[in-house]
Amino acid sequence: MKHLDLKYRPKKFGEVLGNFGPKKTLLNLSLRKKLLKNSLLFGGTRGCGKTTLARIVAKASYCDNLQEGEPCCVCSFCLSIEEASSESYLEFDAATQGTVERIRSILDDLDLGSINSKPIILVLDEAQRLSPAAQDALLKSIEERKIFVIMCTTEPGKIRDSVKSRMWEFSISQPSNGELVTWMRDISEKEGFEFDIESLALISKMTDSCPRECAKALDILSLNEYYDIDAVKSYFDFDFYESVANLVSNLDKPQTVLHEIESLSDSKSPNWVKDKLIFALMDAVKMKYDVPTKFPCKISGSYDANLALNVASRLVILDRPTFPEIEAVLIEPVAVLVSSVVQTILVEKPKEHLPILDIGKEEKIPEVKDVPKIMTIDGISFSTNERLTSLDGKIKKTEIVDRPVILNEQPFDARHAPISEEDFKKAFKN
Ligand SMILES: [Zn+2]
Repeated sequence: MKHLDLKYRPKKFGEVLGNFGPKKTLLNLSLRKKLLKNSLLFGGTRGCGKTTLARIVAKASYCDNLQEGEPCCVCSFCLSIEEASSESYLEFDAATQGTVERIRSILDDLDLGSINSKPIILVLDEAQRLSPAAQDALLKSIEERKIFVIMCTTEPGKIRDSVKSRMWEFSISQPSNGELVTWMRDISEKEGFEFDIESLALISKMTDSCPRECAKALDILSLNEYYDIDAVKSYFDFDFYESVANLVSNLDKPQTVLHEIESLSDSKSPNWVKDKLIFALMDAVKMKYDVPTKFPCKISGSYDANLALNVASRLVILDRPTFPEIEAVLIEPVAVLVSSVVQTILVEKPKEHLPILDIGKEEKIPEVKDVPKIMTIDGISFSTNERLTSLDGKIKKTEIVDRPVILNEQPFDARHAPISEEDFKKAFKN
C-alpha cells in the first residue's frame, strides 16, 4: 500500500479540489494576516475535505514563511501540523468527545495564555455531535478569542445560532466528477498506473465524489496491477448496483422487483439494499425533474415519480429491515395504485343513470340500459359494472357480479387520488 490518500492530501489552498469561493476568501484572509480574526465553521458532506482545509488554515495562520498566502509546508510549524506534534494545534472528534465535561476539561488543559501571543487553534470534527451545553462552554472562549476554533460538520444546522453568529461560515462542497478524474489521472501518471479515463470516471461515481475514497481505490486496485474497467466494477460490486437500478426502472413490474430482491438477498445485507434503493429511488425522482443525479447506474423505463417517492419514503422509516419487509414496501404501492383505479371506475359514473333505492316505497328499481362507458385504458372501455383485474402488465376487464353499486360512496376527488389516470396508463406500458 502506498497510502495515496495521505500522500496526495492537499497541503496548500491551491491544491484543494474545487471550492474556489472558500479557497479564494481564505487565501485573501491569509495574505492580509487576518485568518485568526474569527473562528470558522466548515459545513459539507462526509469526505469533502473539511478537516484537510482546517489544517491548511492552521498552517497558514502560524507559518513563518508564507508564500503569497500559502503555507510553506517546510517550516517547523507547518511540519508540526503535518506530523500532529504541534502544541498550539489540537484536533478533537466531537462524536466521542463532545460532552460538556470533556469540552470544559479540554479548555482547562489548554494554555489559554496562548503561544507567541497567538491563540491556540482547536479543530472540532463532527461538530454537530457537540451537546448544546458543550457549545455554550465553547462560546465564551470563542467570544474572548482565547482560542481559535474551526468546527467541521456535516450538519451546520445543529450548531447553535449564538455560536454560529460568532464564526465565519463556509460551505465546502465535493469536487465535480471532472475535477476528480483529472486529479486521479495526475496521480496515475506520477505513480505509473494505467487506468483509462472510463475507469477513473467510474471510480469517481462509485465513491460518491469523495477524494479520499478515490485515492484508496487507486491504491488497492494498483496493488495487483488491475487497471481495467472490469476490475473497477468488481472492486465496487457494480453488478449489485445494476440490480438495484434495474429494480427501480421496473418498479411497476412486481415480478422483476421480486426477482432482483431475491438475487440481491443472496449476497447483500437488507441494510445495504435499503440504502441503495433509497439512493436510486431519489435519483429516479430527480431525473423526472431534470435535477442532476449521482446513482452510478442508469435508471430508465416508465417508472412513475410519485410511486418512486412513495416507496422511498416508506423505506426510510424501516429500522433494521428484513428482506420480506423490503419486498412488502416495494410491492404494496403497486397494489394500492391498481385498487385506486378500480375505485375510480366504480365511483365516477354519471348520476342520472344511478338506480334510486327507496325502501319506504315499493317502487320498482329502474332498469339501467346501455351502461355508460366511463373510462378507457389502452383502447379498452370500462363501464360501471366492469373492473380492472390484471397485474401482469396487460389490462383486462371482468364484469362485477358480486359488488353492488354503492350509492353512498364518496364522489371521486382527483386531489385525493394517489395517481392520475394518465400516470396509471404509463405505469402499465412495457
Ligand atoms: Zn511554514
